[in-house]
Amino acid sequence: MTTLRDRYRGTLLGLAVGNTLGLPVESWPSGEIRRRYPHGIREIDPLELKLPWDDDLAQAVILAEAILEHDTLRNDDLAARLMLWFESNGRGMGSQTRAVISAFRQGMLPSEAARLVWERDGGQPAGNGAVMRCAPVAMRWARDRVKLLEETENSSRVTHHDPRCSWSAFAVNLAVAEALTGRTASIDSIANTLESSDVGPHTLHAVRDVAGHSLEHLRLDGSAVGFTLKAMQAGLWCLEHSADFEESLVAVIQAGGDTDTNGAVAGAILGALHGASAIPDRWTAHIAKADRLISLADRLLDRAAEAGEI
Ligand SMILES: [Mg+2]
Repeated sequence: MTTLRDRYRGTLLGLAVGNTLGLPVESWPSGEIRRRYPHGIREIDPLELKLPWDDDLAQAVILAEAILEHDTLRNDDLAARLMLWFESNGRGMGSQTRAVISAFRQGMLPSEAARLVWERDGGQPAGNGAVMRCAPVAMRWARDRVKLLEETENSSRVTHHDPRCSWSAFAVNLAVAEALTGRTASIDSIANTLESSDVGPHTLHAVRDVAGHSLEHLRLDGSAVGFTLKAMQAGLWCLEHSADFEESLVAVIQAGGDTDTNGAVAGAILGALHGASAIPDRWTAHIAKADRLISLADRLLDRAAEAGEI
């Protein structure tokens, strides 16, 4: 039986293996991946053990550590942690996140930088840099939906002002939170929860569009590569195709687009559903500092349990 601790560990390790497995084909169209890897990408490069974590995992760890230290997510604290990461390596950083962290470094207030960068770019950018890292918030607030929404928004808005970024992260966190408590959320239930919280029409449509559809239908490698709603859909697709951790994750990456981020979101949801014990050992063995991820997951579980959240 999958234990609670196994699910917690699986969430962070799943995010890590999905992120890392998708790296070699980031931004590739699905057809090209299929030609080059007809059986799917099934190995993680052992060189990853010597490299810093990619942005998706690095920023999920930043959220986990911030939660453990303050038991809330404050934009000044997150801004300081993101700047430290930027200065230490910043591997894989997306353009929107880079612009906002650069604004922090120039002295712009953390409460304003993301909005000003978003407005400067025409109020359009809705990159996947918030949805990729959101899972630790669901690990801490697995039952309280009001708090889950509030802290997911805090975790997103520090870099991504567009409401679609917060809403898509909330949709993913609803899936993770349900999985941690031993249930598989339906697309319908997630859509209904979002609807009752005044979600915008774009996000709601994108959630509902996952139900009963194939990865081909979702066009993860279409023109909107890097769009937050695509990464969300990649993750939510796994709710209806969750029979096998490895096969589902390989399929998401095979669908192309922003494969490392789609893999991270899908991996977190699949890991929460199946637990760390379902993740192939040969993958976990090539994740740098996996023991640190396990320890963070254990501490988030202990914190959530103390607070009666799990
Ligand atoms: Mg990345």
